Order: sequence, then structure tokens, then C-alpha cells
Amino acid sequence: MPGKFTLRLDSSQMVLALKCPTAHDFAYVQNLSRKREDKVAMDRGTVMHGLLERYYHGIWGKLGPSEAMNFAVNGLNELKKQVHLQDDDYKLLGMRFMEYCMKYRNDKIEIATIDTPQGKKPALEVGFSVVLVDNDMFYFVLEGRIDMITVMSGHNVVWDHKAQGRSYFLFGHSVQCLNYTLVSNTNMFMHNYVRLHQKVQPNTFDRKLNYMERWLQIRWKKKVIDYFYKIASSRMEGRFVDKDFPQPACADIGYGKKCPFTDVCSEFDIGRRNAIIGLNYMPRKAWEPWSFDEIGLEIE
Ligand code: SF4
Repeated sequence: MPGKFTLRLDSSQMVLALKCPTAHDFAYVQNLSRKREDKVAMDRGTVMHGLLERYYHGIWGKLGPSEAMNFAVNGLNELKKQVHLQDDDYKLLGMRFMEYCMKYRNDKIEIATIDTPQGKKPALEVGFSVVLVDNDMFYFVLEGRIDMITVMSGHNVVWDHKAQGRSYFLFGHSVQCLNYTLVSNTNMFMHNYVRLHQKVQPNTFDRKLNYMERWLQIRWKKKVIDYFYKIASSRMEGRFVDKDFPQPACADIGYGKKCPFTDVCSEFDIGRRNAIIGLNYMPRKAWEPWSFDEIGLEIE
């Protein structure tokens, strides 16, 4: 898009920009990530998502629950190549996944079918890039990847699988819920929690259906575009990050997680700051919301 200011953001990038522009700048403008980041939780999530994706692929292909479960477990070795976990982690993940299949084996779930250039496919890991604004000056694209879309009484439901080390509920009208339902033309968003407790507890498996009112979605679409303009204009003016005033007090972002940019953010001296970046950070892998097919989704 020559001559236009292009901004492509997914829900996480938007949230970080709203929470802390400085952190957003480090992560998505300078593209930094920590060299020695603890990735266990993320890797566990990757494996659980992979197993669920294969399981529901099997269900869409008319396998029974047990066959679909075996089909998914047979793919575990392939998933192991994408992560770095210990044997105990794989044991826990495999066991929890099978307990999940047993728990929901009698639930009838209809996976939506989507048309792609390669033919009909299940609505699993649906990547999207939706153009929000395309005018003389700006080209804004909202991106993301939806875990699963099902059909319930003729209506689509967007699903997001959450593998959690500890139990907590996510906000039912979060940026992700609003964005994903907006681009999918639906009002319903399901959080599908799979908690990685050592032993199954009453809340190890949980599902929460969230409803987005239509008026809220109409207002949200306007708000998203406002956020994009705000972020774009700040970046164009070069004052998105107030580098002279880091705020280390905000470093605890909850659930025991620390902002990964605390050390570089709280360093005032530019030379030392650059040295810290060289020592502790590396380029972040570019985010691409879809890897197989580009799925065209439109919003009214
Ligand atoms: S330490 Fe605080 S101000 Fe600095 S990048 Fe992190 S969240 Fe933002």
C-alpha cells in the first residue's frame, strides 16, 4: 500500500497498546522479545491447542469421540517438535486431554464448515485479516486466529481454548471476544477452559458462553477504528513512547507475571538501554494470523 500508513494489529497487540504504549513499542515496533523467556506455559498451551484441533478435526470428519481422541494422541509426537517441554509435561497434557475427551464425550458439537480455495474445511484455527479502513491516508487491518467455530441452533459460536496453570475466568467482553465475534458475524463467544491441575478438580474443565449484544458490536467497531487511528497517529508523530518517563511501578501485570520489558524500560541512559537490549532481547518472530489458507471474513 504505497503512500498509505499501514497498521495491522491483532487483539493482543491492541490490548498491549491500550495497557502500556511503551511495552507495545518494545514488543511490536522494535520487535523485541526476551532471550530467556519462560515459555513453559505457552508451550503447554500450544500442545493442548494442537490436541484439541486434531480432536475436533476428527469429529468434523465424522469420527466417534474415542477414534477422534486416538487420532489426536497419535499427533503428539508432531506437536513435541514445536515446543521444549519435559516428559512430565507431556504426561500431564496427554492425561488431561484424555480426561477432557471423556468428560465431553456425550456432547454433540457441530463444527462449522468453511469454503477455502482448497475445498471445504472445518472451521478450526481460522486465520483472518479484515480491512477496517482503506482511505487516502490509512490502511488498517484487524487480524487474528480463531480456535474453532461451531454451530448451535443455527447460530455460529466462536470458541477459544484456554489451557491454564491456575484457575481464573477471563473477561467475557474482552477485546478478543469483541473482535472475534465482530469478524465472524456472530454474538456468541465460548471460553473453553482446560486447567492443568495435577489432579482433576470440579473446575478443571469449564465452559463459559458470553453473549455480545448487537448494539455493543456496532459501538465496538467504531471504537476499534478509533483505537487504530489513535495508535497510528501516535506512531506517525513519533511520540507513542515517552522514553524519558518509564513507569516501573506498573511492572507487575498480575497472576505473578512481570512485564518482560522492566529492565530496559527503567533504564534512563540510552547507551545502557541499548546495551541491555543487545544482551537480553532478540528479534521477535513476525506474527502471521494464518498459515495455510487466507480466509476472507467480512464485517458489515
Ligand atoms: S515496565 Fe511498565 S511502563 Fe515499562 S514497558 Fe513494562 S508495563 Fe510499560
